[in-house]
Amino acid sequence: SDRKIQMVDAPAGLEGQGFFATSLDSLVGLARANSLWPLPFATSCCGIEFMATMAAHYDIARFGSERLSFSARQADVLMVMGTIAKKMAPVVKQVYLQMAEPRWVLAVGACASSGGIFDTYSVLQGIDRIIPVDVYVPGCPPRPEQILDGFMQIQELAKSESTRRRQTPEYKELLASYGIE
Ligand code: SF4
Repeated sequence: SDRKIQMVDAPAGLEGQGFFATSLDSLVGLARANSLWPLPFATSCCGIEFMATMAAHYDIARFGSERLSFSARQADVLMVMGTIAKKMAPVVKQVYLQMAEPRWVLAVGACASSGGIFDTYSVLQGIDRIIPVDVYVPGCPPRPEQILDGFMQIQELAKSESTRRRQTPEYKELLASYGIE
């Protein structure tokens, strides 16, 4: 036969896992990416920008994420927005630990990403000192468009992630580096 078989590359991170597994991963990823439930951990000014992101003009509902989750157990994305004092750090970590896998973390704004302008003894110099961060959104404060851009990057991660990545030794190693079992 002169029919040509076209080889399609597996999505990033899914190579070598077989047709059925990669197709299932793609389907699950697509569903997950368009129904992420955010947990907004807003402590200061960046949180105000998130309110605008939620409202009609920017409308995070377009991404299937208008359902905020104030219960960590039902949340998929932890969005940390604002200055995190060192005294508050254990609370952020506790919230992260209460979230079920798969979970993603978005550091919104300079304070959450690096301490921002508050280079002082009392402020955590970035939440990646205590939990793994997937995407950082720069800005002081970032505009709603930037927050949505960061959110869309989380969607891309959710889309292309194998349903089994969370069981890999690499992922467990990453958590272990934060003292998380
Ligand atoms: Fe406020 Fe800027 Fe810090 Fe955001 S990054 S919480 S706007 S000081």
